[in-house]
Amino acid sequence: MTTKATTASRHPRTLIGTRFGFWVVVGESEPAPSGMSRWICRCDCGAERTLRRAILITGTSRSCGCMTGALKSQRSKFQHERRLARMLENYIPEPNTGCWLWLGPYARRDYGHVSGFTGETLAHRLFWRHHRGAPPPGLHVLHRCDTPACVNPAHLFLGTDADNIHDMMAKGRAFWQKPARGA
Ligand SMILES: [Zn+2]
Ligand SMILES: [Zn+2]
Repeated sequence: MTTKATTASRHPRTLIGTRFGFWVVVGESEPAPSGMSRWICRCDCGAERTLRRAILITGTSRSCGCMTGALKSQRSKFQHERRLARMLENYIPEPNTGCWLWLGPYARRDYGHVSGFTGETLAHRLFWRHHRGAPPPGLHVLHRCDTPACVNPAHLFLGTDADNIHDMMAKGRAFWQKPARGA
């Protein structure tokens, strides 16, 4: 009786019908030279392959390879979203002014620099896009607070080229005449 039980566990139950990733086991094949059982597996795409039990059980093979690209792009989309989420928290609120000061790298003229997100290279533009939507073509995202490092959408507004030049001049004045600002 006990011998029978031992034999049963040494010859595991059939894997037919079991799913391993994209594989479904559809039949049993000749055992491998090592004695390990081998199984005919059908991938969700229809491809068939004979795989050793261990390959299936350990998850070494999850598909015929057809899903590798899909999984990779899914993973990179996930990584992209995590990176974006991190980036959108990468500031410190300034309690007096309400500015959200960018903690990442900086680009020209003290603007926060970002890369790899919908073509935006300026942090405040990325924040605007995230909170308010893509800026219409030809419009600039400008600062009410005259703090280029600020990414608080509430301190940003859309402006034309003329507004932009005006804004730059205002910032230029702020740069070498700081205390006189607002006079
Ligand atoms: Zn496949
Ligand atoms: Zn601000």
